[in-house]
Amino acid sequence: MPAELACIEERCRARFAITEILYNCPQCGGLLEAVYGKPAQSADELKALWRARRTSNAPLDQSGVWRYREFIPFLDDLSRVVTLREGCTPLLPGRRAAEYGGLDALVFKHQGFNPTGSFKDNGMTCGASQAVQLGATRVACVSTGNTSASMAAYASAAGLQPVIFIPYGNIAFGKLAQALEYGAKTIQVEANFDQILALVRQLADRLGIYLLNSINPFRIEGQKTIMAEMLDQRDWKAPDWVVLPGGNLGNISAFGKGLRELKELGLIDRLPRLAVVQAAGAAPFYDLMHAADRSRLNAIEHPETLATAIKIGDPVSWPKALRELDASDGVVEKVTEQEIADAKAVIGRCGIGCEPASAATLAGIRKLTSAGVMRHDSDVVAVLTGNVLKDPGYIHQYHTGVLLGPTGERITPTYGNPPVVLPNDSGRIADFLAS
Ligand SMILES: *Cc1c(COP(=O)(O)O)cnc(C)c1O
Repeated sequence: MPAELACIEERCRARFAITEILYNCPQCGGLLEAVYGKPAQSADELKALWRARRTSNAPLDQSGVWRYREFIPFLDDLSRVVTLREGCTPLLPGRRAAEYGGLDALVFKHQGFNPTGSFKDNGMTCGASQAVQLGATRVACVSTGNTSASMAAYASAAGLQPVIFIPYGNIAFGKLAQALEYGAKTIQVEANFDQILALVRQLADRLGIYLLNSINPFRIEGQKTIMAEMLDQRDWKAPDWVVLPGGNLGNISAFGKGLRELKELGLIDRLPRLAVVQAAGAAPFYDLMHAADRSRLNAIEHPETLATAIKIGDPVSWPKALRELDASDGVVEKVTEQEIADAKAVIGRCGIGCEPASAATLAGIRKLTSAGVMRHDSDVVAVLTGNVLKDPGYIHQYHTGVLLGPTGERITPTYGNPPVVLPNDSGRIADFLAS
């Protein structure tokens, strides 16, 4: 069953060997994706095989990505796999969140349970394994966020040198701290994101560096398995909707591709509708979907949101994302900073918790149900992308009423839960707890 890289542009569709080091189509500049022949097993055989692996102690079977390896067959030697037992994330029902979102029921697929705390691990296990297959000695990305935290961990686990490039003056300390701990060489360059990416591409060939940025097609392959695992956990009953936040739009591209392929393989009988939610200050894809001309995305020069994981003005994967939204009859919504902050606190009250970008899902659901786009009795899975502890400063500021939005506006702590200071007096403490 040969795996190949293919250009996604309809007018091109050029194909390349899976082991060529390519980031864009050399013929037309389009995005690339992995394509495969049919697996040897039937849909029922795959379901049985994947379910049986859950009781296995073999590292590949314990990974919630590589358990589905027939679905991502781009490695010809599985001894190249680097796994930290990513995936295996739970489906968690949130009663209060459902009510807040205007739904009878709501289930969260919580990718924050991953080894480095975000869904980037599902993709990075594949990106790092491909780097090993290609014989790279170093891997690099331009990021200070969850991508760098994840890449650093997987590269070090694989014995590769992780290198992180940071645009000067743009540091997210919480996530960068993980990258430092996992041994990434971290280089701050006095240039913007695009300039640094061009620089890194020049250096890549010369220094044996393989790039693991968002357009890397193997990361997308790994993220596809989030949908396979979700459906496996639901005994292959497709939900009506899958809701997720959108930044660079790699994840929506992965979910759409994964769901289409699962349907083509006969594992599900219909496609869920995809709903992407963006922050209002960083919503170029929302604008594109509501524009008359959808052939070109207008980048936002200064994206603004406290949800840093989706603070992206020029999302690289938008052509793939557009294709997946059309294929799934999907929608794009946008939500304000206040809506994200309140939705996040409601998810917290369910005992679940997530990082700000993830909470855009619930804020978006609330808007989509009240607009009548999503029915109250819909079967909805919302994907929480990152762990609650990724951004503790935001949480403390929200609950104590000092959180300021990106343009200095005060965020109201609608569900604020500030700590109180009481004297060392059992009577006073008892009174407080009784009130
Ligand atoms: C990367 C990330 C996103 C955005 O995903 P894209 O694939 O860039 O659209 C959302 N939430 C979290 C927590 C992330 O790390």
